[in-house]
Amino acid sequence: MRAGIIGLGNMGGRMAKRLLEQGVEVGIFDLNKDFVRSFVELGAEEAESPADLASKFQYIITVLPNVFIVKETLTGSEGLMKGLKPESLLIEMTTSIPSVTKELSGMLRKEGFRMIDAPVSGGVKKAEDGTLSIMVGGEERDFDEAKPLLSLIGQNIFHVGESGAGHTIKALNNMISATTLAATGEAMALGVKLGLDPNKMLDVINSSTGRSFSSDFKFPSQVLTRNFEVGFTLDLMVKDLKIAMSMAEEEKVPMFISSASFQLWKHAWSQGGGNQDHTAIIKYIEEMFGVEIKG
Ligand code: NAD
Repeated sequence: MRAGIIGLGNMGGRMAKRLLEQGVEVGIFDLNKDFVRSFVELGAEEAESPADLASKFQYIITVLPNVFIVKETLTGSEGLMKGLKPESLLIEMTTSIPSVTKELSGMLRKEGFRMIDAPVSGGVKKAEDGTLSIMVGGEERDFDEAKPLLSLIGQNIFHVGESGAGHTIKALNNMISATTLAATGEAMALGVKLGLDPNKMLDVINSSTGRSFSSDFKFPSQVLTRNFEVGFTLDLMVKDLKIAMSMAEEEKVPMFISSASFQLWKHAWSQGGGNQDHTAIIKYIEEMFGVEIKG
């Protein structure tokens, strides 16, 4: 199998490595030439441009920071559209704005090209292990065609609906994830202030009804250990929340809980800068409570 990847960052880089390990012939394109060099050393084939990549690989995967970069990568002077063929399949794995995704896939369809949206969840650890969740929007037959490739990087792969549906559920999932991390942070900080031991609190929460991916994974591995190493930045989390909130606005529905959580995320973002890992939100909660949640 031959697959080209555009975007070799925290997620795309790990996916590319995983595909190489599984025997896939991998083509790469990234503006960061250090990333490109390190993948060429691992056996990947460097492309000169997105157009060049599309002309050489049947499957093209994009894992980019946002939809505006995806659009430029598609339509730019050396963009993917200059190299795609009717038999190519574009697998768009960026976390993105569903309405723009629909526009882009409609534009490609008019030119005789195919695209599915296939964002992922699970973070860098699951990307490394090939156990991501992948949520796909688009034609069923394109989903069926992409599944063998997606199975090499993901464990739970869902077809959720037409074009844009994958990006819709991804934004909603992250809204829940952001809210549970913030709520768990407040509860843990209050518990510490009241004299409880954070390790014991987590033992109780993780075998009780307050449990979530945040309490089960992020707190033990990143907060108690004070290991706020970048895997998924605050910039990206705030981007995802903006997408979710604007979907609600378009539908004219209120989001009481998520709006409160969003304000806290924006506070952390404005205070510390977007390049930190998203778990740094806990530091701003700790600051407000005057405690440290340390294991
Ligand atoms: P990242 O910033 O680490 O990587 C982005 C990569 O894209 C970089 O290597 C950058 O050089 C490259 N890039 C930027 N503009 C480019 C262009 N015009 N052409 C080619 N390459 C370009 O980001 P990430 O954490 O890997 O996230 C990528 C996407 O995956 C985002 O949409 C994010 O929301 C989503 N996502 C991330 C995680 C996570 O844990 N990091 C989890 C799920 C989803």
